[in-house]
Amino acid sequence: DLVNPEVESEAEVAFEGALRPKSLAEFVGQRKVRGQLQLLLDAAAIQSRTPDHILLAGPPGLGKTTLAMIVAHESNRPLRLTSGPAIQHAGDLAAVLSSLVPGEVLFIDEIHRMARSAEEMLYLAMEDFRIDIMVGKGAGATSIPLDLAPFTLVGATTRSGLLPNPLRDRFGFTAHLEFYETEELVQVIRRAAALLSVEIDDESLREIASRSRGTPRIANRLLRRVRDYALVAGGGASLEAVQAALELYDVDELGLDRLDRAVMSIILERFDGGPVGLNTLAVSVGEESETIEAVVEPFLVRIGLLSRTPRGRIATKAGWAHFGIPRNADS
Ligand code: ADP
Repeated sequence: DLVNPEVESEAEVAFEGALRPKSLAEFVGQRKVRGQLQLLLDAAAIQSRTPDHILLAGPPGLGKTTLAMIVAHESNRPLRLTSGPAIQHAGDLAAVLSSLVPGEVLFIDEIHRMARSAEEMLYLAMEDFRIDIMVGKGAGATSIPLDLAPFTLVGATTRSGLLPNPLRDRFGFTAHLEFYETEELVQVIRRAAALLSVEIDDESLREIASRSRGTPRIANRLLRRVRDYALVAGGGASLEAVQAALELYDVDELGLDRLDRAVMSIILERFDGGPVGLNTLAVSVGEESETIEAVVEPFLVRIGLLSRTPRGRIATKAGWAHFGIPRNADS
């Protein structure tokens, strides 16, 4: 699925690794967040301590993993990567925490999906660099305290609203990543094209950027498809190649993919513009409600096609217009 920012093949992981900016200066856009992170890292360096714990919130593909790597790289610390779904028991987390070296940056992707029991262990670890390990069961159970090496936790979540307050409160800093402007995506793609030795003109760059759903991951992915197309068809990464590649992959002029369009079409055609509840919507398009809420809706809201109300999701005037559906007058 070309424009689903979540799907990642092994080849793509390698491809993304090659394109990841290594420093804050190379990281395009998110100016505010970059400034805040820089300050946090500089202050920690002056005091020779581990930087505060950092929470990165925002839709997939906007640079959360990249920023975690940059935090480690810029502060010259080793990095450990894990994810919420990999932490099913408190013991999984204890194993990771107890093996950290002093100053290590621990990145937990999708931290909202970690097991509850692990969450509680994490509170103490974040606050005091200490955990209690439970040994035995029932009346004979005892807890053994264990000191940890000081570390910096970088948590990433697509759903900061799902994090329990005690966890959220333990991060020294929360960054909300925003979708990128077209101009910023032009920079992302220009940089990637140079790294991949793809020659591409400004007009084509802009066309890819404006259809990338505000998301660097999608921009890089579209560039790769355009490169492939140019390779096979000959004639270089021209505007024609861009348009052909995008058409082949079902990306419309706003960058909407099949799932975005399915969601809008359910709201418009089946529910006459809404309001529609999240769960009804998810069932209708056959997706998990978490994906609809964290991936599909934020972008549709951002480009003004959809609005979220307490009664449910509603198509806006622009939503009706984009899909060219005449409104039913008597509804
Ligand atoms: P997330 O962790 O939020 O899902 P990633 O950090 O994995 O997103 O970023 C996805 C891809 O997009 C990476 O290959 C990275 O190179 C690229 N990318 C993300 N943000 C930026 C940025 N600000 N500047 C340049 N490239 C970026």
